[in-house]
Amino acid sequence: MIILRQSHIDAIFEHGREGHPDEVCGIILGRFSGDDREAIEIVRAGNLNNDRSHDRYELDPKDLIAAERKGRENGWEVIGLYHSHPDHPDAPSEFDRERAWPVYSYLIVSVMKGEDCTIRSWQKDEETEQFIEEKINIAGD
Ligand SMILES: [Zn+2]
Repeated sequence: MIILRQSHIDAIFEHGREGHPDEVCGIILGRFSGDDREAIEIVRAGNLNNDRSHDRYELDPKDLIAAERKGRENGWEVIGLYHSHPDHPDAPSEFDRERAWPVYSYLIVSVMKGEDCTIRSWQKDEETEQFIEEKINIAGD
């Protein structure tokens, strides 16, 4: 399970709408507690993919390093990544699956027509290497 605040979801939706029709991506800082993760801060990242930015993302590694540093300063860790699927469902693509690491939560936000957003979270199973949907729990702000 990943625990997010409504403000985190709003921030991800806002980023996805702003970036539409391109994919946007970012980093989720927080804490691991047992099998659960708790999000604390959402950090936007650049998408380095210029050729197919409507259906691919390449998270800028500089942004990941900066987020990791910010996490260390605050006692947080990178618990997941998010990216948008402009005009596509909030399910991972084969491309997403190939590149995912089992340790992270992968939040995918579907942005239909630049407006209607839905979000789901996915985790890659270490053994089967398939994505399994992860429950999102929304904590009160
Ligand atoms: Zn994707």
